Amino acid sequence: MEDPLPQRIRHRKRPDAATIDHVVPRTLGGAAEWYNEVAACRACNATKADTPPTPQDLEKLRLLKSRPTVEC
Ligand SMILES: [Zn+2]
Repeated sequence: MEDPLPQRIRHRKRPDAATIDHVVPRTLGGAAEWYNEVAACRACNATKADTPPTPQDLEKLRLLKSRPTVEC
């Protein structure tokens, strides 16, 4: 699959460089809840900014996400 991001963007792969991306942006009414949040490097998150997800993005998210569980 083609990388949709410009080559000039430098992805930060260090775990401490991760940010929380809201798939449906908070500015568009997206929830600050697990089902709307994914990890993203700072550069990707800044590039996406307030772009709304496509229907394909939402379907991918639905397939990949499941409610988190806690095991003790
Ligand atoms: Zn990135």
